[in-house]
Amino acid sequence: MHTLKKVDRPTTRIYEDQIQRVDERESGFSRAGRGDFGRRLKKEYLRFTLKHPLSKALVQMGFTLRDGVDGEVAQQKAPLPDDPNWMAEHIKETAYFLRADMVGICELPSYAVYSHSNWENGKRVELNHKYAIAILIDQDIHTAQAFHGHDWISSSMSFMSYTSSGFIACILADYIRQLGYPARAHHATNYQIVVPPILLLAGLGEMCRIGDIVLNPFLGARFKAAVVTTDLPMTVDKPIDFGLQDFCSKCNKCARECPSGSISHGDKIMHNGYEKWPNDAEKCTGMRVGNNKGASCGMCIKVCPWNKPDTVFHRSVNWAMRHIPIARRLGVWGDDFFGYGKPDPKRKWWLDLEERRGVLRIPE
Ligand code: SF4
Repeated sequence: MHTLKKVDRPTTRIYEDQIQRVDERESGFSRAGRGDFGRRLKKEYLRFTLKHPLSKALVQMGFTLRDGVDGEVAQQKAPLPDDPNWMAEHIKETAYFLRADMVGICELPSYAVYSHSNWENGKRVELNHKYAIAILIDQDIHTAQAFHGHDWISSSMSFMSYTSSGFIACILADYIRQLGYPARAHHATNYQIVVPPILLLAGLGEMCRIGDIVLNPFLGARFKAAVVTTDLPMTVDKPIDFGLQDFCSKCNKCARECPSGSISHGDKIMHNGYEKWPNDAEKCTGMRVGNNKGASCGMCIKVCPWNKPDTVFHRSVNWAMRHIPIARRLGVWGDDFFGYGKPDPKRKWWLDLEERRGVLRIPE
C-alpha cells in the first residue's frame, strides 16, 4: 500500500459542510428489521445471518465482543517516544501482529460519527476522538473463487472478517487505553462511526460503483473493516489514487451481474455531500436478507476484476490497471474472456446447510 500514489483529498468529492450525520437506524438492515421493506424481510432479518451454522457461530462470537469496545484508561501515561511517526508505525505493527491484513490511520471527521446508534436503542452518539485506525480483514480469496456469489457461505465470509477485525480492534483499543489514552473499538455489532469515509481518508481505497463501498486495489471489495478511535497522537495517512474512478466508469461488471439489480449502470451522483455511484438499498438489502437459495450475497465482491489472488501474473495486471489508463478496457474485456468471476467447484470446502426451526437440513 505504501507504494501507491497518494493524494491530498479522496478521488471522489466530499463537501463536508453539506454532510448530515447519518442515523444508524436508517441503514438498509435496520429498516428491513423494523418492517419498512415488508413482512417477509422483517421475519427473515431475524435469521438471515443465523441460518447457516458457521455464520451463526461467527455472529455469536461477534456479539461476545460487543461489550469489549471500551473501558478504563490508565491513570498514568506510559513513557512513550514523543514522535507521532514512530507511534503510527508502532500501532500499525501492533495491528499486523494481531493479524490485520491492512491498516490505515486518519483524523476522525465529525461527519463520520453516527448521529444515533441502532444498537443502543437510538441513543445519541457522542464521540470526540481525534484519530481513527482502520483495520481490514480479507474474506479469503480461495473461498471467494469457489462460491458462486450468493450461496450458503456468503454470510460466513462477511462475518469471519467482521468478527476477526472486531477482535483485533477490541485488543488494540484496550492496549491504547493501558498506554494512557482513551480508545474505543468499533465493529459490526457496535459501530459508532460510518466506515467508508474513514477508509477513504486512511488511504485504504477509493469509492467504487457498488455504492457505499470502498474498494482496495489488492483486496477489491473482499474485506470487512473495524475501527479504533483514539486521542493517541499519530501521523495520519493520505488518500490514494489508483485510477479506480476511470476503471469503474469502463467496467460495470458488478452492475451487470448483481442478482438484485441494485447497482447503477449510470454516472455518479452527489448524495449527502458525497460523490458516489447510487445504489438501491431496498433491492440490495432485500437480496441479502431475503435470499432463500443461500445466506446473504456477495456477488459484487465475487465478480469484481480487483478480486484476484496474489500471483506474479495478477500483480502485473494489477500494476497495468493502476498505471496505464488505455489498458483498462482491455483488462475489463480480458476478465470476462478468461472467465474470471465464475465459481470454481473444485475449491468448494463448506457444507450447504440451512437451519429451520432448530434443525439443520440440506437446502432444496
Ligand atoms: Fe468497479 Fe467493475 Fe469492481 Fe464494479 S466490478 S466495483 S465497476 S471495478
